[in-house]
Amino acid sequence: MQFTVTTPQRLALVDITDQVNAALARSAVKDGLCNLFTTHTTAALVIVENWDPDVAADLLHHLEKLVPRDGDFRHAEGNAQAHILSALYGVSLTVPIRDGQLALGRWQGVMLAEFDGPRERHVLVTTLGALPS
Ligand code: ZN
Repeated sequence: MQFTVTTPQRLALVDITDQVNAALARSAVKDGLCNLFTTHTTAALVIVENWDPDVAADLLHHLEKLVPRDGDFRHAEGNAQAHILSALYGVSLTVPIRDGQLALGRWQGVMLAEFDGPRERHVLVTTLGALPS
């Protein structure tokens, strides 16, 4: 299974929890593991609080300070910052599945982290678990 995400701007956290749960609803696995993988080198996957949007805004603001966009980079494409942030977070997540849905905590949301948008991003969803008997 896979789906696409259209990101709105250069840096963004896009909540994809509902899209993942929609994919899981089509899977026969009701209890197991869900692996999410995004096939890019300038985006990442991360779990962040999704209730207060200021949490995501603060995260992006401070990531820009952690890895400044105008840093001293050898990569000349202009998106070295995005490659570094993608590598820091990583492009995959594994989350437990319970009752056919992501077993997230009350305040957790699965986000696609865009570091070089706006673009269309791909997310692969792979499930692992015992099938219902
Ligand atoms: Zn590049």
